[in-house]
Amino acid sequence: MSLKDRIASLVEAQGPMSIADFMTLALHDPNLGYYAAHDPIGSLGDFITAPEVSQMFGELLGLWIVQAWRDQGSPSLCRLVELGPGRGTLTADALRAARLDPAFLSSIEVVLIESSPRLCAAQAETLKDCGKDIRWFERFDGSLVNRPLFVLANEFFDALPIRQYVMTDRGWCERMIGLDAEGNLAFALSPVAVQLVVPSERGSPEIGAVYETCPMGEAIVGQVAQTIAKQGGAALIVDYGYGANSGFGETLQAVSQHKYANILDTPGDVDLSTHVDFAALARAAARVGAKAHGPVEQGEFLRRLGIIRRAEALSHNDLHTVDAELRRLIDPDEMGRLFKAFTILPKTAPKPEGF
Ligand code: SAH
Repeated sequence: MSLKDRIASLVEAQGPMSIADFMTLALHDPNLGYYAAHDPIGSLGDFITAPEVSQMFGELLGLWIVQAWRDQGSPSLCRLVELGPGRGTLTADALRAARLDPAFLSSIEVVLIESSPRLCAAQAETLKDCGKDIRWFERFDGSLVNRPLFVLANEFFDALPIRQYVMTDRGWCERMIGLDAEGNLAFALSPVAVQLVVPSERGSPEIGAVYETCPMGEAIVGQVAQTIAKQGGAALIVDYGYGANSGFGETLQAVSQHKYANILDTPGDVDLSTHVDFAALARAAARVGAKAHGPVEQGEFLRRLGIIRRAEALSHNDLHTVDAELRRLIDPDEMGRLFKAFTILPKTAPKPEGF
């Protein structure tokens, strides 16, 4: 039975499901879910990510983490955690750049948080010569909160399940997935309105406005930020998304083979993602006593970290390729504007580089 048919029979038996439940099944079903059954990342996959575009990305993020660690007094027992490492390229490049500071390398334990066994295997292969032992966890759990915590996450939060609410004349109604007259999956609205507290910076919603929330993203940021507030550390998150004052709008999208696809037609075969609400993540961090900075556009952030100089140094090998990679990462009409960098630090930490 296809995943689509399974979801349709679940809806038939139990009634409409939330978009969050649909995303969880479509992305993570252990047999037919997108991450279980596909190798999503890279030119042969469905999308390409910044660490796969160029080694410069992971190197600069790695050096940023080393600087954050020094700014906080170079704690001697701490963790470097990557959330959703894909093929492991970001951590590999970050660790290579961090060899500049052997004391940093010997102070960290490296932990990868990954739900897909297939991608864990790819990460182990990429990192086999990185010089550090690696521990894997399926989720960020309570055993990771007892040391200073340095976190990297690129295109992780956009992959987490969201809920959507639509303003109607009854108030906010949740957008669900039900069945149409022919038995196909179709969007539907919950009949009963829900009470939502929407931040006032968004403005006042008109009928038809869509508001998205990502409870899992906020919960993960809550745990990470609480650890950083108590133990020290820093989280550097890069993703496509928006800050406060962004108005309303839906951002859920399906991508297959580098092109947009239908969200409901072939669940499990297409990647699903959304834009990250950085203002919501900043509030989640502030609630537990940490401080968020950003978002800053990726192009600007990487320039401030010195990507132009790094590209010049590398271009002695292959000017043409390095220049193409640089443009891809920083040009406003490539990844430079849509993607943003965002960080969470202890309240007392000095202003971080790049923000
Ligand atoms: N950071 C990588 C990969 C981005 S794709 C890069 O930039 O190339 C998203 C990654 O997050 C994949 O590794 C995916 O398997 C993982 N992931 C998605 N949802 C997850 C979840 N709920 N828990 C743990 N990992 C998850």
